[in-house]
Amino acid sequence: MAMRSDSNPVPLFIRHLPELLGLLSQPDQGMGPFAPYMNGPIFTVTDPWLRSWLDALAFSLSGVEAAETPASAMAYVLFDMHRQGGTLDYPKGGVGSIVDELVRGVGGVELSRKVDEIVLDEEGRRVKGVRVRGELVSAKEGVICNAAIWELPGLLEGQKKTEELHRFLEVAKDTPFTRSYLHLHVVLNSTGLDVSSLRPHYTVFDKGLAGDSDHVVGDSNMIAVSNPCVLDPDLSEEGTIMLHAYCCGNEDYTIWEDWQGGGDRAGYEALKRERAECLWRSINKVIGEDARSRVVVEYIGSPLTHRRFLNRFKGTYGASPSGLLKNGNTPVEGLVLCGDSVFPGIGVPSVALSGAAAANGLVTWWKQLQSY
Ligand SMILES: Cc1cc2nc3c(=O)[nH]c(=O)nc-3n(C[C@H](O)[C@H](O)[C@H](O)COP(=O)(O)OP(=O)(O)OC[C@H]3O[C@@H](n4cnc5c(N)ncnc54)[C@H](O)[C@@H]3O)c2cc1C
Repeated sequence: MAMRSDSNPVPLFIRHLPELLGLLSQPDQGMGPFAPYMNGPIFTVTDPWLRSWLDALAFSLSGVEAAETPASAMAYVLFDMHRQGGTLDYPKGGVGSIVDELVRGVGGVELSRKVDEIVLDEEGRRVKGVRVRGELVSAKEGVICNAAIWELPGLLEGQKKTEELHRFLEVAKDTPFTRSYLHLHVVLNSTGLDVSSLRPHYTVFDKGLAGDSDHVVGDSNMIAVSNPCVLDPDLSEEGTIMLHAYCCGNEDYTIWEDWQGGGDRAGYEALKRERAECLWRSINKVIGEDARSRVVVEYIGSPLTHRRFLNRFKGTYGASPSGLLKNGNTPVEGLVLCGDSVFPGIGVPSVALSGAAAANGLVTWWKQLQSY
């Protein structure tokens, strides 16, 4: 949380000198990918099952296999999962409760108000504000943008750009990205079901865990089944439970592209049902073969759903680790980026970090230190 989008190291040095000295004694080992710990020279994982398991773990963090996942993320998660009392956390009340807390911290959030463009000064050197429904909202300190990086060129389309900004946007639009998601949200009648014997979270490998990386992280294989009513029964009406099964970033957008303009609705619905069969298989494994006969509500979400409702470029999970921006700085004074396209990348804790770094970057290091 001491990091800044402008990479000014002073707050880091003041607050975390001992940890920094430790890091400096192992140059590059934490910042690079996990490959040297999987495939040598630092360490070689030879056990096939362990390799598959590390690939699966990495994939759920980063959307890519272990060798390509940042070593820092792998180190942290392996440590965190295996420490005494380590658990997978579920927010009581659902993810919306995290959003509510963030809104409380920020002070105000406008919903359903799309930013049409980010407005720069006449020379394209400093940010002036954002345009929302034709109206300029002026920025006092700056603009922090967490829209995915691929949206940035469109948001700056009509603005005068410096050479440097041109180059920055060229790189931005080609940022490599991870695949998308397929979702099945269901409410099931829980009559006669021993809910207390179920777990809150399962990971099902529809085609098996053992195999090479391509297999483990391959098409529709790794499926998460989230069953939060075990911990928080109030999430669903009495006599029912709610489950969310999803392909974890292993659904290809290209399969769906033909339907992005609408058109053949029946064809789209049929494809959704066909692709979601693996998700039903995973729910059957958790609930039992009669799961389908218990359905009260059923929604299937495709990569197009992601694209449309989350404003996600090609429905992607986020930027591939190899394409992450090192920090949120841009060639435009006062315009700072954060979110899953910026180091440390995908995940709520990670994007909260890049968000904090962006906010820190808009104030002096002295003011930042005073806020602790
Ligand atoms: C199914 C699923 C499960 C996940 N599970 C976990 C988990 O268990 N733990 C975890 O830590 N992470 C998890 N993640 C990852 C995590 O949710 C994301 O990495 C994180 O939410 C990304 O945050 P972000 O701010 O970068 O982007 P987003 O959350 O996508 O936020 C960007 C926002 O900007 C809005 N926007 C875009 N363009 C405009 C515009 N022009 N004007 C106004 N608004 C705009 C979008 O609508 C969106 O609301 C999961 C992700 C998915 C899809």
